[in-house]
Amino acid sequence: MNYPIDKIRGDFPILSRSVNGRPLVYFDNGATTHTPEPVVRAMDEVYADYNSNIHRGVHTLSNICTEAFEAAREKVRAFINAGSLHEVIFTRGTTESINLVANAFGEAFIQEGDEVVVSGLEHHSNIVPWQLLQSRKGIVLKVIPVMDDGTLNMDAFYGLLSEKTRLVAVAHISNVLGTINPIQEIIKASHERDIPVLIDGAQAIQHTPVDVQALDCDFYAFSGHKLYGPTGIGVLYGKEKWLSAMPPWQGGGEMIQNVSFEKTTFNELPYKFEAGTPDFVGAIGLGAAIDYVSDIGLKHIANYEQELFNYAFSRLSDLGKITFYGTAPQRTSLISFLLDGIHPFDAGTLLDKMGIAVRTGHHCAQPLMKRFGIPGTIRASFGMYNTTHEVDALVAGLVKVRQLFG
Ligand code: PMP
Repeated sequence: MNYPIDKIRGDFPILSRSVNGRPLVYFDNGATTHTPEPVVRAMDEVYADYNSNIHRGVHTLSNICTEAFEAAREKVRAFINAGSLHEVIFTRGTTESINLVANAFGEAFIQEGDEVVVSGLEHHSNIVPWQLLQSRKGIVLKVIPVMDDGTLNMDAFYGLLSEKTRLVAVAHISNVLGTINPIQEIIKASHERDIPVLIDGAQAIQHTPVDVQALDCDFYAFSGHKLYGPTGIGVLYGKEKWLSAMPPWQGGGEMIQNVSFEKTTFNELPYKFEAGTPDFVGAIGLGAAIDYVSDIGLKHIANYEQELFNYAFSRLSDLGKITFYGTAPQRTSLISFLLDGIHPFDAGTLLDKMGIAVRTGHHCAQPLMKRFGIPGTIRASFGMYNTTHEVDALVAGLVKVRQLFG
């Protein structure tokens, strides 16, 4: 089957707008992806047809809305092949999912002097929650070093695992380097030592099929807005054996069974971790995004994106006087680079004048920037709707940037 690129692009109205008088070329998908019409429509329908607070109502609209919300949970469950709906918790996004684990798992299972292992290529959202736990509880944070090509130093990783390690938390795919980390090996090695593993899937869920049971990861976090869904909604997958042993981390409505001033009991999973009115409109939107992606087929999307990535890497390489950050054999979806002698901010600003959106800066990974001794990079990150013509526009734009900076 041919990849239906025209049909896909037609579903994203924003792609046909212009920016600074030029057709938009959007290569900032690592930060957020756009939303196709069926997803917007699904959310419009909630507000127009059946908006009502979920779970508590006996009335018709509340029941329709509750069913749609729970149907979205089932779509997420099937998409990541979780074993049970109890294991799918709606959050605000990857950041909140990781904070949930740092708080609730951290409360129950990590004590002073215990160790958490992260890697040197993590996004701040998989660093700072552990540092907060460090200041609360006096835990020790260990860091897997990053090699020059952007791969993890796996020998060092094995050396970091000790009888004090309580959790390993690593990204599936790096948001700066595109490295696909060997998470299967990391999970297997950790489990051999009875250490659970959290995977930050923010940059993977939209690019590669994820099967949490096959991976056997203990936690998997991702955001809706990077999966062609709305902002403000995300997911934490967690194995039931951990979630049921973890205390709630936020209190309020929905997460309780009974409240009295003498004794309060908590709701069953997953509601124990969903205090307050959830973003049910966002969850329904995320369900629609999963339908959209699944209809095209994530494998199909992945193959298309890999071809686009290869094309972009080869065209950018031909420019010369360019330094790439992240040259791991296993990488995908984005390219980080610097043009020799040109500040990334200047390049990004000029590209924007040409309608080309790339991200410049540290990409919320300052320790990784320090590792490479640079203030930031230019990052072109791809989505299912990008084309080789757009890559050509980027390359032409960079040639102009170079001319202007002499
Ligand atoms: N982890 C990684 C690897 C990311 O790329 C991002 C988003 N840039 C996050 C975590 C945080 O995601 P969010 O802001 O949606 O919570």
